[in-house]
Amino acid sequence: MGPAATIRGVDALDILRNRLPPGAVATDADTLGGRAIDSWALALLRRVRGDQLPVPAAVVFPASTGEVATVLTWASQTRTPVVPRGAGSGVCGGAQAAPGAVVVDLSRMDRVTGVDLVSQAVHVQAGTRGDRLEEVLAGHGLTVGHYPQSIAMSTVGGWIAASSAGQASAGYGAIEDVLLGLTAVLPDGGVLRCRPVPRSAAGPDLRRLLVGSEGTLAVVTEATLACRPRPAGWQWLAFSFPDFAALADGLREAVREPAGAAVIRGYDEADAALSFGSLGHAGGCVAILGFPSGPGGPDAADALGVLPDRQRLAARAIARAGPARPLDPAYGEHWWRHRNDAAAAYFQIMGPARAFGPGVIVDTAEVAGLWSAVPDLYAGVRAALAAHSRAVVCHLSHLYPSGSSLYFTFMISGADDGDAEERYLMAWEQAARACEAAGGTITHHHGAGRLKSGFLAAELGGTGVGVLRGLKAAVDPAGIMNPHVLLP
Ligand SMILES: Cc1cc2nc3c(=O)[nH]c(=O)nc-3n(C[C@H](O)[C@H](O)[C@H](O)COP(=O)(O)OP(=O)(O)OC[C@H]3O[C@@H](n4cnc5c(N)ncnc54)[C@H](O)[C@@H]3O)c2cc1C
Repeated sequence: MGPAATIRGVDALDILRNRLPPGAVATDADTLGGRAIDSWALALLRRVRGDQLPVPAAVVFPASTGEVATVLTWASQTRTPVVPRGAGSGVCGGAQAAPGAVVVDLSRMDRVTGVDLVSQAVHVQAGTRGDRLEEVLAGHGLTVGHYPQSIAMSTVGGWIAASSAGQASAGYGAIEDVLLGLTAVLPDGGVLRCRPVPRSAAGPDLRRLLVGSEGTLAVVTEATLACRPRPAGWQWLAFSFPDFAALADGLREAVREPAGAAVIRGYDEADAALSFGSLGHAGGCVAILGFPSGPGGPDAADALGVLPDRQRLAARAIARAGPARPLDPAYGEHWWRHRNDAAAAYFQIMGPARAFGPGVIVDTAEVAGLWSAVPDLYAGVRAALAAHSRAVVCHLSHLYPSGSSLYFTFMISGADDGDAEERYLMAWEQAARACEAAGGTITHHHGAGRLKSGFLAAELGGTGVGVLRGLKAAVDPAGIMNPHVLLP
């Protein structure tokens, strides 16, 4: 499908230009090239090796929900594919331009439009980046507590559409837990308003329908998110474990203990060496637990005598599970200081600098499963990735009483870029099969995009995919929203 070049002899893009304020539609090569891909490792590789990647026909910069409605109405009339775009930090090709498509770039919709101090809620335009949102909230002593590693290069709309989870998810939840309300524009230009409420039984939750929809159903234009008092600082606990099984056992107990840890992370031996080697880490798996302190954190509760020593409770829970050795809390402080460093390293390796040379791909696979499946998930997915990679490390990054996500970082080193691509695709294919065999989900918080859409049928079954297709057909009958993404 491509856009109608002309309608009754008039250039289709000119019609759109006439309906929007001056400067809202860009077609210059730099703007088109800059929106051709997102941060998917394979697309970055293809770009640096000089492949001709499809560029969109135009990039549109709406400034309001009304302008997004104008764009989508036009796109429906002209049958033009639409690729919604936040900040392009997605790692699965979800915001990659389709040939002839129009990219709807939300970067001009970046205003925090209201803070409700009574409810502790913030109303925001969907193109607002995470660091900007937190900067504004800091002025009110509040935080959303949604801290993805990509916080400075991702948007609220992207978090919703890609089903994001932040590094403090144990305390603040993932994006669906803080999403109170949203506004979205449907492909025919209709505006869906889900009013901000703490919970609703008015039918299936339409807010949740858009969580993880990856731009295939609608463009999210505004959202209301729940906030909490902003912690003044963090206190840390760290432990060492002899092996991965002991680590998983200890953290399962820790996450079930209501001790107030907002960050809970567990590193396998290889990831611990990589992450804490500069501290002189002597070997073994590592867990860190972070407790928000100050107003709203454990200190405040302590003053009220509610929970006298939350950290002791967490430590006891871990000790109950088996062999764990306390480590210096400096492990936690070190992680917090460097928690987003990997973002710059990723683009150093996969961008034009090619820090590790050609033929190298670094990527991450974030699967999840019940605690009973975690050992098989760890062994199976790790072995599948390791069969094609030079290095594989893993940490448990988002934990729940019933299960956990497992976040694998792997580095493929091929004879050249073509060989690396082949190995990369095989690694993903086999990792997906291993995940399926262990009963897990192939994606915990990065979404499916183009990378994982082919694995969806194995996970959801034909019936599940059929439901998604039915929804898509009902909401987007012309199929203009982000074709080739999410749905196989
Ligand atoms: C170094 C690095 C670290 C990362 N760390 C994390 C992490 O800790 N946690 C995490 O969850 N993710 C992480 N990510 C992945 C990425 O940041 C998230 O998926 C993020 O939610 C994407 O937001 P974005 O604004 O960049 O969206 P984009 O990449 O622009 O888009 C992502 C998808 O959402 C759709 N979309 C975007 N905006 C809208 C909208 N307004 N309406 C409808 N659809 C829309 C796009 O079409 C696309 O399918 C990381 C990525 C990188 C590169």
